[in-house]
Amino acid sequence: MAKKNLKTVIENGHSEGYEKIDLYNYKNVDKLSEHYAAILKLIGEDPGREGLLKTPDRVAKSIQFLTHGYQLDPVEMLNSAKFKEDYREMVIVKDIEIYSMCEHHMIPFIGKAHVAYIPNGYITGLSKIARVVDAFARRLQVQERLTTQIKDCIQETLKPLGVAVVIEAQHLCMMMRGVQKQNSVTTTSDFTGAFRRVETREEFIHLIGTKLH
Ligand SMILES: [Zn+2]
Repeated sequence: MAKKNLKTVIENGHSEGYEKIDLYNYKNVDKLSEHYAAILKLIGEDPGREGLLKTPDRVAKSIQFLTHGYQLDPVEMLNSAKFKEDYREMVIVKDIEIYSMCEHHMIPFIGKAHVAYIPNGYITGLSKIARVVDAFARRLQVQERLTTQIKDCIQETLKPLGVAVVIEAQHLCMMMRGVQKQNSVTTTSDFTGAFRRVETREEFIHLIGTKLH
């Protein structure tokens, strides 16, 4: 995995029983932090008041975590766990959590991705599918492109008989501002190969809709 510029920072909080893991490039923190302090002033805040003293620094680290997908290489992820296998039935990884950010407002959209593929000689580790979803989600995105990028990456890297990606998400930019619709869910889907056949696609849609657990 190519975490080119990011550093994983682990802060131990033993007394509280947890480890805090952060991901940011400390070289960018100061510069980002200055900009966020300026933004605080521009929205009418006082960056010098107690509650906000460390906010620009925290946001500088947080924005890097929220967009750390730029540092990841999803093709490399899939190739790192690509195994020869004769299984030629549908493999589905469903309910993969999505935390992304809309590129128009830089406000989160959150939801779930369901991904399937039909191997053609090669399979990949199941966790890699979830990692690929995350690598594309942790960038500034639109849901449509996110869906297609995941599909293309799996199709081009594993060359399976087909790939299906369905994403359901709620966009906070629609809920908190703009039309202020609180309960609308946006669904996007993209299919290749065998999933273009109605029966295969219906089997997939049926399986992601069934609660087996
Ligand atoms: Zn938006």
